[in-house]
Amino acid sequence: MTNSADIDIAPTRSLARPPRLVRAAVSMPDTTTTVRHLDTDAAVGAVGWLKVESSAVCGTDVSLYRGGLDSPTVLGHHVVGTVVSLDETQATSWDVRPGDRVALEEYLPCRSADCPACRTRDYRMCPQTDLWQGKRRVGLVSAEDGSGLHGGNAEYMQLTANSLVYRLPANLDADLAAWTQPFANALDWTVDAGGAEEGSTVVVIGPGYHGIAAVAAARAAGAARIVVIGVPDSAGRLEIAESLGAAPVVNNNASLPDLIWRATDGEGADVLLDTVGLGGEAVAAAARVLRKRGRLVIGGLGSTPVCELDLKSLVRGANTIVGVRGRSPEAVRRSIDILADGRSGLEIVPAIDVDLDQVDDMLGRMAAGQGPVSPHVVIRPQLRRPIDQK
Ligand SMILES: [Zn+2]
Ligand SMILES: [Zn+2]
Repeated sequence: MTNSADIDIAPTRSLARPPRLVRAAVSMPDTTTTVRHLDTDAAVGAVGWLKVESSAVCGTDVSLYRGGLDSPTVLGHHVVGTVVSLDETQATSWDVRPGDRVALEEYLPCRSADCPACRTRDYRMCPQTDLWQGKRRVGLVSAEDGSGLHGGNAEYMQLTANSLVYRLPANLDADLAAWTQPFANALDWTVDAGGAEEGSTVVVIGPGYHGIAAVAAARAAGAARIVVIGVPDSAGRLEIAESLGAAPVVNNNASLPDLIWRATDGEGADVLLDTVGLGGEAVAAAARVLRKRGRLVIGGLGSTPVCELDLKSLVRGANTIVGVRGRSPEAVRRSIDILADGRSGLEIVPAIDVDLDQVDDMLGRMAAGQGPVSPHVVIRPQLRRPIDQK
């Protein structure tokens, strides 16, 4: 994993350094993960180091893993940690100091003045970091690149000049802090793209990680009615959604529009958020259940991404269909504020703590669809369990 020829001039000046060798869960293209010691001295382009507190697993990790990675990779892109060292220039530009607790976004955008996305801080659309283009992102850069410490599933990871870093309150509960990115996504999708507001009716398809976060986002926005629809196998997660204030609906192969009509007492939805990728089925349902000016938000890519649109209902309802990915910097800040002031409600979702030695087993289980009931699976690289508890 290390290449001594690549050792760069130590990028941090007069500041603490991480240990030379740190433990990292390296995920392989053959869908196995092994814990290795990687060399922080091999870092190229590091402007500082983060001691990783948590790295929450989301569906993207699982599908990347299941689909076969291009090369050995330290996964983990929903990262929270403490800055242990930072180049002075960077510290000034980020307004972050060693000792600060921060959350990272996964994007590593080019930040060039010539990039239309970066110029407007729409980092998710920067070609360099786009998941379908440059793929330069936290938790996706090869473990064979420099130190290899580019993801959250490691004791330490390197910060680079294009990292997106957000300061977190030091006293924010660790389980809540790990929600920073998924909850920011949910705010972006449900509130910013979906338009959920005080009094809205919000229907969420899929009580997965983002579905549960969307319930919390809708609740924080003041939605009057929240409905979550899941398959019979998701009963445990529907219960979690219910305890967050949503009405749970089990979809036993019934017609989706009928389910939504019944769950909303015939009123329909202002926001219909598809987190699982129902494709045509969601579009067909939207045509029947969206209220005037209602929006269908598509946050999942299923197996049927092509469908027919009912333009008549779209025009008559002045409805909107919008695809979403990731989140804006502003949504991250709002996520942190709501988590910190206790309005998210997400403290009721149990966190499943995973140490580095358990990453292989957990990713394997999740890829096989046999993950835990709670969607909040959090890798904690500093956690070391005695052998007999593994
Ligand atoms: Zn993610
Ligand atoms: Zn860019």
